Amino acid sequence: TGLKEIEYCVEPKFDGGSISLIYEDDLMVRGATRGNGVEGDEITTNIKQIRSIPLSAKFSKHGIQTVEIRGEVLINKNNFAKYNQQLVEQGQAPLANPRNAAAGTLRIKDPAEVSKRNLEAFVYHISYYTTPATKEAPFTTHSQSLDLLWELGFRSPKQEKKVFKGIQQVIDYCLEFEHTRDNLPYEIDGMVIKVNNLELQDKMGMTSHHPRWAIAYKFKARQGTSKLLSVEFQVGRTGSITPVAKIQPVPIGGVTVSSISLFNEEVIREKDLMIGDTVLVERAGDVIPYIVKSQAELRKGDEKHIKFPKNCPVCDSKLFKEEGEAVWRCINIECPAQVVERIIHFNSKDAMDIRGFGDANVRKFYEMGLLKDIPGLYTLDFEKIGSLEGFGKKSVDNLQAAIEKSKTQPLHRLIFGLGIRFVGETTAKTLASAVDHLMDFKQFTQEQL
Ligand SMILES: [Zn+2]
Repeated sequence: TGLKEIEYCVEPKFDGGSISLIYEDDLMVRGATRGNGVEGDEITTNIKQIRSIPLSAKFSKHGIQTVEIRGEVLINKNNFAKYNQQLVEQGQAPLANPRNAAAGTLRIKDPAEVSKRNLEAFVYHISYYTTPATKEAPFTTHSQSLDLLWELGFRSPKQEKKVFKGIQQVIDYCLEFEHTRDNLPYEIDGMVIKVNNLELQDKMGMTSHHPRWAIAYKFKARQGTSKLLSVEFQVGRTGSITPVAKIQPVPIGGVTVSSISLFNEEVIREKDLMIGDTVLVERAGDVIPYIVKSQAELRKGDEKHIKFPKNCPVCDSKLFKEEGEAVWRCINIECPAQVVERIIHFNSKDAMDIRGFGDANVRKFYEMGLLKDIPGLYTLDFEKIGSLEGFGKKSVDNLQAAIEKSKTQPLHRLIFGLGIRFVGETTAKTLASAVDHLMDFKQFTQEQL
């Protein structure tokens, strides 16, 4: 048989933390991480927090008694961004990328915290199984094993995998997949190509480290070097001061990066950043780009230290930092930057969802004195707005209708929209379910809350 006859199964190479799961008599009995080829930490309790891993599965239906499954634990891009946002708001340093976040989470000794991070798992390999001697093999190709896992309730790459005869189509599929990687909800760093027939896999065997029947196609690294030109300081909704690095624009994975959040003062110190430094920048998928490190060995001597401001860059109030926090805050509640950010948050999709009221218009109306605070949204002078350049009757009508419609939003959205520190969407829902009306909270004691 020539090369053309060989059947390959191609699937995404997930970029997370590797795990191995053992099921006996349909029950998951053990979960472990696989670090460097040796037996990993036992983390069964943590793995049980992952909703996409069934605690029991009907392997017995296929005559399988004991089975070991390999897979990868991931945190999707959305959850990763949300989680980092929370860390930053709590004054902690954000995690570098979804891969580190997923692998790190599995090692945490607090299952409740693991559960909160919404990990997901893909399983892609049945590495070992036992059946009664008389029983026929439940599958003869790798592709069939993925179908079987999917049918038993696992998240296997059943939908993403493809089987091809001959190598040219394999290459085409890999190239095609690379173009769509940004559209996936999770991070992948390449493709894996496996010989589909399991008997042939066995014949090919292993080297001391790797199977001879599988090969990885790695996507292009999404890193670049650039120069740190300056650092700007932005004021957030809760008054947090975020340093933002302005770098010489650099293309990374099809996007030009020129601005990168540095999150807080400690990040600047940890990464030893100076203005004028050559910096290594990474962008993982559509996750926010970040600075990996500065290349101190390339310094010429004219680099400058980054000076963190003592006063708010917008309202000039003195900045404060709470003990144990990394974030400096402007605590002036009237600070124009915060007022505008609060209104933008109130309008946002997850809060009151006032459509067609873009951030730029909030800023513009605020600057013109047409909108001073959140209640002001409901007393906007639409006649005056209609007389502004670029506002036709239609856009004013739409805006008015969207604001009117927001009055019927459920209470939890309103509570979330107020942007109270530490009150996220979940807390807002809990609070809303405790009362009939927002004003009921006035009678609440601290304990009731
Ligand atoms: Zn301020």
